[in-house]
Amino acid sequence: MARKRVERVVIAGGGTAGWVAAAALVKQLGPLISITLIESEEIGTVGVGESTIPTARTFHDLLGINEGVFMRAAQATFKLGIAFENWGRDGSRYFHPFGSVGRSVWMGDFQHFWLEARRQGLTQEGYGAFSLEQQAALAGRFSQGSKPPLAYAYHLNATGYAAFLRSLAEPAGVRRVEGKIRKVELAPESGDIAALELESGERIEGDLFIDCTGFRALLIGEALGVPFRDWSEWIATDRALAVQTESVGPPVPFTRVVAHGEGWRWQIPLQTRVGNGLVYASDYLSEDEAVSRLLGAIDGKPLFEPRPIRYRTGMRASTWKRNCVALGLASGFIEPLESTSIHLIHVAVTRLLQLFPFAGMDDALTARFNAQSTHEWEGVRDFIILHYKVSERDDTAFWRRCRDMPIPDTLAQRIALFRESAAAYQGGEDLFRVDSWVSVMLGQGITPREWHQLGKLLKPGELGQAFGDIRRGIAATVATLPTHQQYLNDYCKAR
Ligand code: FAD
Repeated sequence: MARKRVERVVIAGGGTAGWVAAAALVKQLGPLISITLIESEEIGTVGVGESTIPTARTFHDLLGINEGVFMRAAQATFKLGIAFENWGRDGSRYFHPFGSVGRSVWMGDFQHFWLEARRQGLTQEGYGAFSLEQQAALAGRFSQGSKPPLAYAYHLNATGYAAFLRSLAEPAGVRRVEGKIRKVELAPESGDIAALELESGERIEGDLFIDCTGFRALLIGEALGVPFRDWSEWIATDRALAVQTESVGPPVPFTRVVAHGEGWRWQIPLQTRVGNGLVYASDYLSEDEAVSRLLGAIDGKPLFEPRPIRYRTGMRASTWKRNCVALGLASGFIEPLESTSIHLIHVAVTRLLQLFPFAGMDDALTARFNAQSTHEWEGVRDFIILHYKVSERDDTAFWRRCRDMPIPDTLAQRIALFRESAAAYQGGEDLFRVDSWVSVMLGQGITPREWHQLGKLLKPGELGQAFGDIRRGIAATVATLPTHQQYLNDYCKAR
C-alpha cells in the first residue's frame, strides 16, 4: 500500500503539551503542513506543571520566544535549582543546583578534589558551597548579567503558559476547534487513525495525530491500545493534591520539595502566588490525612480547596504508534520531583520536528523516536528512584518499603560506582549531568569509600588555595547580584 504523505496534523488536547506542539510545529514547519488543535474547555487541563529545568530556555529559543514577554504572561520567576528537605534524614537539607559545581578536569570531576580536600581538612564546607547557582539561590539573588552567567530555568503559571503559547500559535496559522472528541475513527484497512469525531458531529480528518489528551490518552491508549509500562513498583506515590496560596514574601529563586512520611510536598513561587502540592502513596496515607497535612504545612492563605489528582507512574510501551505520537501526560507520567515533565514534552516535540514523517509513516523513524523516548524516560525514572532508595529514613512503612525495594540494574550500577569510587557519569543522550548525580547522591547520604587521587598530584598548598579561590569568587559574584524580586520588577513584572 502506498504511504500517505503527511500534510494535515491534528493535535488532540490543548494543555501544555498540545500548545507546545502547536506553537513549535507552526513555527518550524508552518508552510509545509496544516495544523488543527482540538480542545475542550469543559474538560479543562490538569492545571499543574509549574517548575521547569534549564532546557526550557533552549526550546524557547527555537520558538523565537521573547523571554520578558513570556515571563510576564506566565507570571514566571527564575529558578536556580531545588532545595530538598527531609530526604536523606528527617531534618536534613541539601540543594540540587543547576550549572556546574566547582571545577572539574578531564581525569576527574570536582567531587574527587572536594573529597580529598575534606580528608586533608582543607575545607569543612559541603559540595554545594562550590556552586554559584546554589549560593545565589540561598541568598535570594539573581541576574542574567552575572559573571560567570547563572544556569537557570523558570517557575511558571501552567494556564498562563498554555495561553501564551496559544497566542503565538493561532496568529501563525493553527486552527483551534473547541469541542469534545467522542470517537477516534480508525481506517479499516490500515488500522491508522483516520479522523476524530466531535460531540457536535464535526469530523476532523488528518494524516498525523498528536495525542495530548492528558491522562485519558484517548488516541494512543484507548483507540490504539498501546500498553502502559507500570513503574509503581519503584515509585509508589499515586496521588497528588494541588493548592495555590497567596504569597507571604518575595519569591525565592528555587523550588522547595519537602519529604514527609508517605511522600513529599512542593512549593513553587510565582510572581503573584505560590503553587503548593502534596504527593503521596494512597496505600499508606488517606486523602483526608493528606489534605490536613498539606493545609497544615503551607504558609499563605489558600486560594481554593486542595484539588485531588490521581495518577499512575510509567510510560506507554511506544509513544509513537502508527500515525499517532503521544506527548505529555498521554505518553506517561513520572512524579514532578525533578520538574522533568515539561522537559520531556519539549524534547519529544524537538525530536518530532527532526524526524517528521513527511513522506508518510515509516517504521525506521518510529523506532528511532521510540528508542530515544524510552531512553529519556528511563533516565528520569532512575534519577527519581534514587531519591527514594538512597535515604536513611526508616521512620514509616513507606520509607522502609523504599529502602527494601529492588531497583533497576541501571541505577544499582550507578549507585555502586559512586559508593565505591565517587565516580559518576553522563552518557551521550542522558539528561542529568554529573553534577546533578553527585549533588543528589551526596545529599541523600552516600559517602564514597574511595575517590580519584588526582588531588594529591597538586603541589603542596595548591588544593587549599584552589578551594579558597572558588569560594571567594562565588561570594564576590553573589555580592554583585540584585535580589531576585528586584530583578523581576525591573525585567518582567507581571501585571
Ligand atoms: P492536560 O493539561 O491534562 O491537557 C489535556 C487536554 O486534552 C486538555 O486541553 C483537555 O481539554 C483535552 N482533552 C481531553 N479529553 C478530551 C476530549 N475528549 N475532547 C477534547 N479535548 C480533550 N511538569 C513539570 O514539568 N513540572 C512540574 O512541576 C510538574 N508538576 C506536576 C504536578 C502534578 C501533580 C502533576 C499531575 C503533573 C505535574 N507536571 C509537572 C506534569 C505537567 O503538568 C504536564 O506534563 C503538563 O501539564 C502537560 O499536560 P498535558 O497537556 O499532557 O495534559
